[in-house]
Amino acid sequence: MEAVDKYYGAFHALKSINLTVRQGEKVVLCGPSGSGKSTLIRCINYLENFAGGRVVVDGIELKSGASIDAIRREVGMVFQQFNLFPHMTVLRNCMLAPMKVRGMKATQAEEVARAYLERVRISDQMHKYPAQLSGGQQQRVAIARALCMDPKVMLFDEPTSALDPEMVKEVLDTMVSLAGERRTMICVTHEMGFARAVADRVIFMANGEIIEEAPPEEFFTAP
Ligand code: ADP
Ligand code: ADP
Repeated sequence: MEAVDKYYGAFHALKSINLTVRQGEKVVLCGPSGSGKSTLIRCINYLENFAGGRVVVDGIELKSGASIDAIRREVGMVFQQFNLFPHMTVLRNCMLAPMKVRGMKATQAEEVARAYLERVRISDQMHKYPAQLSGGQQQRVAIARALCMDPKVMLFDEPTSALDPEMVKEVLDTMVSLAGERRTMICVTHEMGFARAVADRVIFMANGEIIEEAPPEEFFTAP
C-alpha cells in the first residue's frame, strides 16, 4: 500500500497508509476500535474503495474491473461473522468458489473442498448446514472456504471476536497451524498471545495511521 487515503464522507479513515508486506510474512494489526484496521485490510481486496494512493498485490495493481477480480483470486478473507451461505451445506459452501471462480468441475471442486475441510479438522461436519454448527466450527469452515481458492494472501478481520470464549482457542489453533505454511497472513486481532506466537511483525494503528510496527519480541517489551 502506497499513500492510501480513505474517506467515509468527510471522515478521514485512513491517512496516507504506507505498508509493505513481503511474501509469506505474518502480520498482526491491532489498535483501538475505530482506528481503521478493518478498513485497511478491506482496501487490500477492494471491499472498500479508496480516494488516493496505490494497492499492489503480487504485482497486480488494484484498479477497477479485471484487476479486482484478479486480486480477489489471490486474497482469501475471513470475517468476524463467518458469512457462510446458510442455505448450503458446509461442503457446498466450500465448493462454490473453486467452481465459480477457478472454473472447476464439481467432482474436482469437491476434492479440493474435502482436503481443506480435513486441513481444518472439520470434515466430519461437511454435510451439515452452518446453523447446525457452533460458532467456532463455522469459523473453521469459513477458513477452509477461503483456503479453497488457494490464495497467496489470507486476511482475517477479528475472526475470534464474535465467538464464545471456549471456542476462541480452536480457531486460534487453526490459524497458528496455517502460519506454518508459506501463505502471507494479515490478521486484525486483539489476541496478543496469537501475535506473540506467529507474527513476524505487529502493527499498531490509531486514528487512521500506523503508529508503531515491530517484531513481537520488541513490540511487547516496554521501552
Ligand atoms: P477498526 O477496524 O479499527 O475498528 P474500522 O476500519 O472499522 O476500524 O473503522 C474506522 C472508522 O471508520 C470508524 O470511526 C468507523 O466508524 C468508520 N467507518 C467504518 N466504516 C464506515 C462506513 N461504512 N461509513 C462511515 N464510517 C465508517
Ligand atoms: P469493527 O470495528 O468490528 O470492524 P464496526 O462495528 O466498526 O466493525 O463496523 C461494522 C460494519 O458497519 C462495517 O461494515 C462498517 O463498514 C460499518 N460501519 C462502521 N461504522 C460506520 C458508520 N459510522 N457509518 C456507517 N457504517 C459504519
